[in-house]
Amino acid sequence: MSSKKRRDIPRFETPIIETHCHLDYLDQSELDVTLEKSREMGVERIITIAVSADNLHRVMELTKVSPYIWGTQGIHPHDAASYTPAVDDIIRANAADKRIVAVGEIGLDYHYDLADRSVQCSAFEAQLQAAVDLNLPVVIHTREADDDTRAILQNYSSSLSRKGVIHSFTSSLALAEFCLAEGFMLGFNGIITFNRADNVREIVAATPLSQILLETDAPYLTPVPYRGKPNAPYYLPFIAEAVAAIKAIDIEDLLQQANSNSRALFFSGA
Ligand SMILES: [Zn+2]
Ligand SMILES: [Zn+2]
Repeated sequence: MSSKKRRDIPRFETPIIETHCHLDYLDQSELDVTLEKSREMGVERIITIAVSADNLHRVMELTKVSPYIWGTQGIHPHDAASYTPAVDDIIRANAADKRIVAVGEIGLDYHYDLADRSVQCSAFEAQLQAAVDLNLPVVIHTREADDDTRAILQNYSSSLSRKGVIHSFTSSLALAEFCLAEGFMLGFNGIITFNRADNVREIVAATPLSQILLETDAPYLTPVPYRGKPNAPYYLPFIAEAVAAIKAIDIEDLLQQANSNSRALFFSGA
């Protein structure tokens, strides 16, 4: 609608790992374009995240259509009511596949409260136990649920040998400090490019470089200057730029650190 040209996506040398997006929203032709453009922008691996009993299978399929795509298995707090013993069996069976790199996304969302809070807590706990049993890291979603997230993680953290990431981190500095001290990483996305996100930029500033992951959470949360368009992994360079600016370091150095963090968390078990 606007003829104003947006700044092109910057292309950096260091390969980028997309640690959190939702490719199952795309149809086949959109997927083809997204993969090709992401590769051109230096994205070398993409982790597509499961959220519901309905998309567990689709994530498995996506990891088979391209060697470039990896996946997770898990039930999002919004869908916690669908976490049944039968679904638990599917998650555990699918997670044995080498292309599944984590249990997630799991956690608590008290902003939308789409599932009863006690149901969210039990699904979260059961899936943390699955990650312990499977020796996989976890991808955690938490929103406006700091106290319960902390209480539950406190019980499981020491058993989770590979820890995990709190993705799209927007919670308090206190929760960030707790998670970082427990050895978890924090995932940051386009939110840090938004005007009204000083609180999240403060968390980035407080997070050690060795515990930062980059993600888009596509198709949501498109970074500036492409807000209004659907998000995609090829916008990761904008997120890397924003993190590097907050940390006052060279972008290539930031990308190398983020790449090695991503590999250590998700690709060290194979
Ligand atoms: Zn999430
Ligand atoms: Zn997500």
